[in-house]
Formats: sequence, C-alpha cells, structure tokens
Amino acid sequence: MRHVQGPLLTVDLTERTATTVPIDDRSAAFVGGRGLNTRLAYERIPADVDPLGPANRLYFSTGPMQYSQTSYTGRMAATSVSPLTNGLCSSNAGGFLSRNVVAAGYGAVEIVGESDELLAVHIREIDAEGTPTVEFEPVPDLVEATVPAVSDRFADTHGMEAEHIACIGPAGENTVRFASIMTSDTRAFGRGGLGAVLGAKRLKALTFDGNSVAHGATSNRTKSGGTDPPLDMEWPDAASDVHREAATSDSIMKRQGTTSVTELANEVDALPAYYFSETSFEGTAGISGDRVEEKKYKKGTCSQCAFACKLPTRDEDRGVETEGPEFETVMAFGSNAGVDDIVDVMRSNELCDTLGMDTISCGDVVSMFLASEDEFGNAELVHSLVEQIAYREGVGDKLAEGIHRAHEEFGAEDWTVKGMAFSGHDGRTLNGQGLAFATANRGADHMYGEFYPYEYPLVGTDEALDPTGLSGKPAKLIAKENRNAVLDSGVICKFSRGTITDERLGALLDADYEELLALGGRIVELERAFNNARGFDRDDDTLPYDIDGFDEALSTYYELRGWNDDGTVPGYDESTVPGVADD
Ligand code: SF4
Repeated sequence: MRHVQGPLLTVDLTERTATTVPIDDRSAAFVGGRGLNTRLAYERIPADVDPLGPANRLYFSTGPMQYSQTSYTGRMAATSVSPLTNGLCSSNAGGFLSRNVVAAGYGAVEIVGESDELLAVHIREIDAEGTPTVEFEPVPDLVEATVPAVSDRFADTHGMEAEHIACIGPAGENTVRFASIMTSDTRAFGRGGLGAVLGAKRLKALTFDGNSVAHGATSNRTKSGGTDPPLDMEWPDAASDVHREAATSDSIMKRQGTTSVTELANEVDALPAYYFSETSFEGTAGISGDRVEEKKYKKGTCSQCAFACKLPTRDEDRGVETEGPEFETVMAFGSNAGVDDIVDVMRSNELCDTLGMDTISCGDVVSMFLASEDEFGNAELVHSLVEQIAYREGVGDKLAEGIHRAHEEFGAEDWTVKGMAFSGHDGRTLNGQGLAFATANRGADHMYGEFYPYEYPLVGTDEALDPTGLSGKPAKLIAKENRNAVLDSGVICKFSRGTITDERLGALLDADYEELLALGGRIVELERAFNNARGFDRDDDTLPYDIDGFDEALSTYYELRGWNDDGTVPGYDESTVPGVADD
C-alpha cells in the first residue's frame, strides 16, 4: 500500500525548536492525511486535553497521492482536538498548500506547545542529513490581521504566494470556536474550529517552501495546476485515466460547483431554511446554482486538478469578490438566514474567508440569532454579525461560542450533533444522511459519511436509494464512512465520485479495495476510541429530530462495526494494525 513519504516534523512553539523523527511502520500503514494524523493524535495527545491548552497538538499531513500528476489530489488534512466538539476532528482543505508541504520534504507536521507572542513559523526544505530548516518569526504587526493581509505581508517580506501559507484570521486569534485555518486565501480547513487551536497557541501562520529532490517535487510558486515536474514514482494507468476523465467531464459541477444541487435540494425538501424550521425556501431562485454561475468570472481549481470545480465570483457593482459560495454556504447564509440574494451570500462568504471562519457554523449561528430577533432576511445585520463574531464584539462574543453553547440564551433549539452545526442535505428528508450526521465522529457534517448522493433522485444511478427510512442503510453507511476515511488519507477529493471507482482507488493506492475498506474502518474506530476516552458514547450520536427506526438502525450500525450498544469501542486493539513492513 502506498503511504506518505518523509519524516514527521515536530514544531515546539514553547521551546521554539524543530525536530524530525521517521514515521514508523505502523503509522505509515495509515497511509497519510487523516489516517496518519489520527494515528499520531491517538498516540501523542492526552485523552483529557484542553482543546485550547498548550498540551493539545495539531497535525498537518499530505498523502501519497500528492506525489502524483492526477486530478483530485490537491488536498491535505489537518487534525486536532476540536474546541467546538471536544472530540478528535480532521478537516480537509484544497488549494495548493499540499504540494508545498511535499516540496518541503515532510510527511507530516506536528504543532505542539504555545508561544508567549504571536508567531509565524517558516518551514523550509529538509536538508540531505534530515535536519529541518525552521524559522520562528515574531509577528506583532499581524495581530488581528485578516487573511489577505497575512498573504500581502509574506508576499512583501518573503516573496511567498498565498499557496505557501496556512494562517488564521482575527477569528482564530480570538478563539472563535469555529475559526478556520485558511490557505491560498480562500481555501479553508473549515469544520471543527482548528483555527482556534492555532490561535490559542499564538501561531498566526505557517509557510512551506522547498524543492525536495528526495521526493522529486518542486515548488515553482505558480498556480500551474498539473504542470509540476514528474515524480520519481511509478503510477498505474488509472492515474492518467482519472486525469483525462476529469479534464473531459461535462459535469455541471464544473460550472456551478456544489451549488448545482441547490434547486434539487429545495425541490425534494432537503434544503434547511429559517434556522431549520423549514426544509425548503421560496427564495431559492435568487441563490441557485444558476445565480452563482452568472457571477463566476474565471475557472478555479486545486493543485493538479483538471476537474476545476471552484467558483471565483464577483459583483463589481457592489464590490464583492470571493471564491464560492458553495452549496453549504448558500444554505447557511441563504435559505437558513432567509436571505434570497446571491450577492449577499457572496458577501458573507467573502467576510468569513477574510476573517477566517467556517461558513457553515457561522451562517447557522447567525441564523439562530436572526430567529431569536425575528430578523430573517436582514442581510445587513448578517454581515455585521459576522464581523462582530470574528472580533468577539457585542453579541458576537456569545455567538462565537457556537450554537451548542449559546442556544439556550437565545431561546433556540440546539441544531448540532456533538456541538457541530448542521450542513445541508436535510436528514429529515434524506433519512440515511440523518443517520450519517448522527454517527459521524466529527459531528453534523455531510462529508464524513456523505450518504446524501444515494438519496437524491439521481437519474441513471442504479445505486439510488429511497430517501425515506433506514432499512439496509447502516451497512452501506459503514462502507461509505470507511471509503471516505481512505480518501481523506490518500488524500483524494470526494468529488472524484464516479471517476475514481473502487477498482481505480485500489490501483492508485496499490492495495486491494477490501484492504482499503478495512483500513478506513480502523481509522473511524481509532477516532471513536479517542472520543470514547473523552466521554463520548451513544448519547452523542443523537439528532434534534426523529427518524422512524433510528434507534434500531443505530444499534445495527454499532453491531456491524463490532462496537458496544452504548456506542463505545470494546477495546481498541493496536496489535491488529499491520505495519507497512508486514506487507
Ligand atoms: S474536484 Fe474541485 S475541490 Fe476537488 S480537488 Fe478538484 S478543483 Fe479541488
């Protein structure tokens, strides 16, 4: 099985030291990305850690696919204990950072400790002896700097483009519990508040650069998307087949990204609206994929990806320029807030990216506030609230804690799972996705179990399921969760669905598909075991609404996974984890 190359770099912010150790066999067997990060976190983070304390650790990792020339591989993973959910959380971002981490020569980077002043850490190429080159730079000039201001600063002082930078905005510094880590200006490690973890550590930015001959990668400082030099690694035909199909696909996602589903979600009652009080929105025509496409002014992509589904948009009349909004942002800041103008949603998206916040959690908590004030549709108030949250001003200080911690004060229902606010694809209609929201170790996020594609009326898809009910769905959900854990470890974009088939996934990662699913199961179980040690159990796998047969389906899910009926892992058995040397 392929796995990430290069050592683990540990950056200690307290001691201002940088050290490397080889990634051991058993860790390498987790491939990279989310799998490797989870393994490292399980070993190295104390189970009783304060997510915002110095003992918490944060991991960045690419995977073996980042050495390929294949589409859908411009992503990477970050993992830590979430200040939003209090559980282990992996978040995944696209853009161009991954190739610069590869070019610096590291398989994974671990951030430990905390600084007594705001810092930037510059990570340069590891030398031939394996000695890291890491500079610690105090950056008092960047206190509460926005994400674009951070990019401008390092362009001026270090000649760095934004694709080399992972940073936080004011929201991260102010430990907003859903603050993002941003890269390439507009790409977010969004869910779970990992930006607040860096903020608590007083780490404003990391930059990566190099020309690692060890892995054949170079960092050419251009957004060339597929023109990096070839790497010294043999790739199967599947890699070029995938790349060609990504380039020639006529998918509507190439024009509208994920917003191509907005109208369908509305038609089938799967579009949350008015702070989850409804499942369709009469103003959908104003925020649909067509409206987004009208505002798109050029192509957007991630490193190496010929599918190019990103959405650079602008409205010159109103002075808004952003990337997106994606469907989930349209839901959170559009239908859920009662806002029916796409430019208003674009503005919310732009603010969240600039200030460094997850658009889903931010939009949902803003919608909660609008519900309490009977102010749905007030876009001006929405934009003001987003800024107040990032700087923790006025009511923004309470909203910055997220729905789970703030809802009672506003007389609102707690629309979260494990403290994470819901994304779209409403589980009250798409019942299997509802179960997926409940079981996801990171909370109410659509990409963890990603069951919803089966439950929309997909013409010509023989895998389409009746969205009502849960019969037969737990086993299918487990397979999907396990597959997604593998994709997150590869690291491979989930929008490769239909192109990276099971057979091709096996070929790309040089493994039997069943072996990969078993690996995915181990990753999910390791996350669960860590969260169990922090007190998570069945009571955390619940929904704020009823689905017929939910309790039975949840018990079946646990049974099929070999877990206890209280949602705990009987005993995580490290000895069952093969090392790569066993291959
Ligand atoms: S499909 Fe879209 S999100 Fe995924 S890697 Fe390609 S451009 Fe990025």
